[in-house]
Amino acid sequence: MSAVAGELFLIATPIGNLADITLRALETLRTVDLVAAEDTRTAKKLFSRYQITAPLISLHDNSSPKRLDDLLEKLLAGATIGVISEAGTPGISDPGYRLIQMAAQAAIRITPIPGACAAISALCASALPLDSFYFAGFLPNRSGPRQRRLEELREISATLIFYESPRRLNTTLEDLEKVLGDRPACIARELTKVYEEFLRLPLSQLRVLGSERSWRGEITILVAGYDRESSARDPEALAAVETQIRSRLTDPDFIKDHSNRDLVDLLQAEFPHLKRRQIYDLVLEKDSANG
Ligand code: SAM
Repeated sequence: MSAVAGELFLIATPIGNLADITLRALETLRTVDLVAAEDTRTAKKLFSRYQITAPLISLHDNSSPKRLDDLLEKLLAGATIGVISEAGTPGISDPGYRLIQMAAQAAIRITPIPGACAAISALCASALPLDSFYFAGFLPNRSGPRQRRLEELREISATLIFYESPRRLNTTLEDLEKVLGDRPACIARELTKVYEEFLRLPLSQLRVLGSERSWRGEITILVAGYDRESSARDPEALAAVETQIRSRLTDPDFIKDHSNRDLVDLLQAEFPHLKRRQIYDLVLEKDSANG
């Protein structure tokens, strides 16, 4: 162990193809005092391929607080510790976050060693817009919370990225189409592996495909972000926006002290792609409903 303050290295490892590891990751794994791994069996395979002999300890979501305290104590005593997950970048839908937080709070130096990440590899080859993206990780398992989460994501204009298991993929595709509408999408399957596959299709076609084939392997789903303009032309999306406006118009705090004209101005600012006339009709509808 070194005498100076310790250091925590967050080391990205391959997401399938064992060759996807950087020279710096290998050098770091060879020189740290200890490697905390999500899955020590996967780590051993990587270690044996690259002749790495660092001591291994397990670190996963169910690790005891004592395990985390011990690691922090070692760091404070000057140890260098590498964190690796089962695949890809540690902490990204993977364990590591608690230790990262604790190390930051204790002013331990934290160094990322970049490399594979399924979300980024899937995104860059998806042919969906790359200028901005939103990583949503795994959706909740249960239908209610999953649909509510999708509602929250519905109006995000960035490309959405989800991790999913093949078992739940069909249900998720149905929910995605139901809540987000039929958008351009991509399923990136088995990235970096022999059967790597990209299915660049609208959600409705992916759903149909899912009813005809069984999904296997590791899957990342990408969905185009919200497009205000095309949503305003799409009857289903328009109906959803109208429902939102009607609900705004039943909110006493929103309508209080405003003339119809003010309300139209406010709603127009909020929904710039609707025609003023459409908003005006909804405001008048409120008046006729109130008699
Ligand atoms: N930390 C990892 C990373 O940096 O990408 C992600 C870990 S998360 C527990 C595992 C999920 O990532 C899988 O269920 C799948 O959704 C996605 N994933 C991992 N490897 C993949 C691959 N080779 N191809 C497609 N998706 C993958």
